[in-house]
Amino acid sequence: MSTVKRGEVPTLFESPSHCCGCGACAAGCPKGAITMSEGKDGFVLPVINSDLCIGCGACTRACGLNRGIGSNSAGPFFAAAGRDDVSESASGGVFGAVAREYISSGGVAYGAAYEREGNSLRVLHRRAASVDELLPLLNSKYVQSDAGVCFADVKADLREGRQVLFCGTPCQVAGLRGFLGRDYGNLTTVDLVCHGVPSGRMFADCVEDYGKQLGSPVVDFRFRCKREGWEYSLLLLLLLEDGREVTIPAAKSPYYDMFLNLKTLRDSCYRCPYAGRFRAGDLTIGDFWGVEVNRPDVLKNPDKFNQMKGVSCLLVNNERGREFIESTNALDLYAVEFDDIAKGNDQLRHPSALPKDRQLYIDAFVEGGWHSVECMYKRRERGIIFYTKKLVRRLLPESCREVVKMYL
Ligand SMILES: Cc1cc2nc3c(=O)[nH]c(=O)nc-3n(C[C@H](O)[C@H](O)[C@H](O)COP(=O)(O)OP(=O)(O)OC[C@H]3O[C@@H](n4cnc5c(N)ncnc54)[C@H](O)[C@@H]3O)c2cc1C
Ligand code: SF4
Ligand code: SF4
Ligand code: SF4
Repeated sequence: MSTVKRGEVPTLFESPSHCCGCGACAAGCPKGAITMSEGKDGFVLPVINSDLCIGCGACTRACGLNRGIGSNSAGPFFAAAGRDDVSESASGGVFGAVAREYISSGGVAYGAAYEREGNSLRVLHRRAASVDELLPLLNSKYVQSDAGVCFADVKADLREGRQVLFCGTPCQVAGLRGFLGRDYGNLTTVDLVCHGVPSGRMFADCVEDYGKQLGSPVVDFRFRCKREGWEYSLLLLLLLEDGREVTIPAAKSPYYDMFLNLKTLRDSCYRCPYAGRFRAGDLTIGDFWGVEVNRPDVLKNPDKFNQMKGVSCLLVNNERGREFIESTNALDLYAVEFDDIAKGNDQLRHPSALPKDRQLYIDAFVEGGWHSVECMYKRRERGIIFYTKKLVRRLLPESCREVVKMYL
């Protein structure tokens, strides 16, 4: 737990793995004494300027993660999909559908979007008050978003009486709630089933590198391209400044493959308290992976739920979430059990497991940036394939070798 004595500079966290980098403490400091500072490993951590600090404790009160903000999801639980076009969304388009509904009745939505930075991209949370402004918020950005930058705007909207929808990782939702310090009847929070985030710096360097390799800067980086359907949506679509579009399967993108294999996540993600039924938001959304096996009955009405379009899971966590679900007209819903969803989704059962070689990649980043990480990835992956082939040659009969080679 973080500690503070009135009048003293507080300790925000016991170790960096106890900080998710949500920025709530910096946003809540009345003296502007906290800077979110990027470490050599690329991850941001808050740093207090003791000359400016008056020891008021607002920062520790805003820290949703260390205050344990959240509660066990009360349910009910659903398979869910947006009723309109969901092609730009990552899975069933739940966020897009409810955000459009909010906006069309005069409310606003907050979520993560890309911003161009030189020949690269950064991800930050921003406000959408029109359907055009909403589009950049759709789809998953598999990197830490700077959410703290919008917390003051959220508060201003709430105080002016607007209906506000906020979507982010659970730790960001906890950070926002800590920052606000009290409940607002006009706020609905949606958290994501979240397996963790790589650093913004690693992502930015990777994007810049893709631009160099492809001969034109990357202007949009869609992690979840649904051209082949939601089932096969772990597909990267890069939009380049010169108008070209490039698709890359996740397994062929070192950044994406390492993200999916949990190798480049923030320290706090390996001990995340929100990797289960304990949630920070009023609602939780994620992919309903394994729906075809664990609840095939959901797919019996393909006009509403099908694997081309995308099927989301939706957890209704509290009374506010329940009121919201009763009032929305934007979603198709199908009741299921929590375990039906969690069976196919590790993140609802336990935090991401720390891979043995994770530190090697982080050290490589500290040594030589993204280029070193990519080189190490290629060396190690090639090494694994080389030794597997050797083993196959030794152990398998000729007839089986060709089949195994095809897969390698
Ligand atoms: C880092 C990360 C890890 C995830 N891990 C899992 C997982 O392990 N299992 C699983 O089932 N689902 C996971 N998800 C959620 C999944 O990718 C979809 O975002 C979710 O199913 C919502 O899809 P949708 O079609 O309803 O939303 P969309 O309409 O596509 O909207 C996506 C919403 O997510 C928000 N968002 C996108 N990127 C970020 C970001 N970097 N930080 C904060 N908010 C963001 C957007 O603001 C938007 O509100 C993860 C998402 C992220 C960002
Ligand atoms: S104790 Fe108050 S002044 Fe000092 S860093 Fe925290 S919020 Fe800022
Ligand atoms: S508020 Fe967020 S950024 Fe600040 S110490 Fe807590 S977890 Fe870290
Ligand atoms: S895994 Fe947990 S700590 Fe990491 S980004 Fe997601 S919610 Fe935050």
